[in-house]
Amino acid sequence: MTEKLYNDNVMLKSCKATVLACEEKDGKFLVKLDKTVIFPEGGGQLSDRGKLGAANVLHAFEKEGCVWHECDMALEVGAKVEVTLDWKVRLDRMQQHCGEHILSFVCWKLFDSNNIGFHMNEDTVTVDLDKALTEEELLQVEQATNAIIWDNRPINVLNLESEEAAKLPMRKFNSNLKGILRIVAVEGADVCTCCGTHPPFTGMVGCVKIIRAERRKQGQRLELLCGGRAMADYAKKNRILHNIAADLSSKVEEVPERYTKMKEEIAGLQEALKEKTAKLLDIEIQEVLAAAETRADGAKVMPLILDDAKIGKSLLPKVGALENTISVILAVQPERISYFVTVGKNTTGDCRAYIKLLNDTFGGRGGGKPDGAQGGADFCPNWQEKLDLVVAQLKAL
Ligand SMILES: [Zn+2]
Repeated sequence: MTEKLYNDNVMLKSCKATVLACEEKDGKFLVKLDKTVIFPEGGGQLSDRGKLGAANVLHAFEKEGCVWHECDMALEVGAKVEVTLDWKVRLDRMQQHCGEHILSFVCWKLFDSNNIGFHMNEDTVTVDLDKALTEEELLQVEQATNAIIWDNRPINVLNLESEEAAKLPMRKFNSNLKGILRIVAVEGADVCTCCGTHPPFTGMVGCVKIIRAERRKQGQRLELLCGGRAMADYAKKNRILHNIAADLSSKVEEVPERYTKMKEEIAGLQEALKEKTAKLLDIEIQEVLAAAETRADGAKVMPLILDDAKIGKSLLPKVGALENTISVILAVQPERISYFVTVGKNTTGDCRAYIKLLNDTFGGRGGGKPDGAQGGADFCPNWQEKLDLVVAQLKAL
C-alpha cells in the first residue's frame, strides 16, 4: 500500500519517500513508493505530474491500493527520494474538477438538470446535462456557481459509513456502495462521493466560465473553463478582439457595429461588381463575336473563356439570343473546367453533338438538349489547346 498524503492534505507539495519497487515497461519505469503527494488519475480527474528526485513523473495510476509513478528514469529500490508535485498542474486539475462539482450542483438545484457525463482533458472540460437549459438559465448557473466560489466556502472531506452518507443531501448517490465512503462536501452546496483532489476552499477555483453549450438528444453538453484556464482563454480572446479593433481603427465596443457595417459594404460591393462584370462581358461578347469567322452555313462559332461556372451559366440566355451563333463557354477553375454550348436564334445545329465533342476532347461528362447543353471535366493545363481544337472542328462542320 502507498500512503496517500494528498487525501489528508491537498496543499502538500513535497515529501520524502522510499522506493519500494521499480519495473521497466514500454521504455518507462514504474515506481512504487511507501508514500506520495502525487495523485493518480481517478474519478474523472487527470493524473498529477511531478518529480521523484531527478526523475520526471509523467503519469501516475493506482492499482490494488498502490500508486505507481510512470518515470523517465529508473530508481534504485530502497533509495530515499524527494517527491515533488508539479503544483501548477495540480492546481489546474483541482480548479477544473471542483468547478465542475459546483456547477453540477447549481444545475441540479436551480433547474433539476443532472450531470450524466463528465470529461476532462488537458484543454477542455465538458459536462453532459440530462435536461437542456436556456441561454438565460445558463447565465444564472454561471452567476450562482461563481457566487459560491467567491464566498470562499470550506470544502470538507468526510470518511463515512455508507448508511451515514446516505442521510446527507447528496447530489448523486449509489446506494450499492458499502463500507467507508469518501464524501466531498462544499459547505452549503455540493455533497457527493468522490476520490479526486479538491482545494480546501472554493475561492481557489477562481471562476467558472461556460464557453459553449450544444444540444445532445434531450440534454445538453456544456464546455467549461475554470480558474487559470478561463483567464488564459480571456487573455487570448481579448488579444484577438483588440487586434481586430486596432485593424479597424475603432474601439473594442464598436467592433460589432463595424463588423455589421462591413458586411453591408461587402454585399453592396459584390452587387456593384456583378453589374460591372455583366457590362464587361457584354463588351467582350461583342468583340469575340466581331472577330469570329462565319461558317459556310452563315453561323459564327464564338468561344468565351471565364473563370466562374456560375457566371458562365448566367450568360446562357444572353448568348442564346444571338442570331446565327454557336457559343462555347469555358469556365476554367482551379480544379475543374465547366463548359456550356448553345445555338442562338435562327442557328442550325445540335448541342447534343457539340457537347459530345467537348466531352471527348476534355475527357469529361455532360449532356443536354438540341438548343443547349453543359458538362465538365477535371482541370487540365492544356485547356486552351483543347478549346481551339473544338472550335476548329465546330467551324469545319
Ligand atoms: Zn471531486
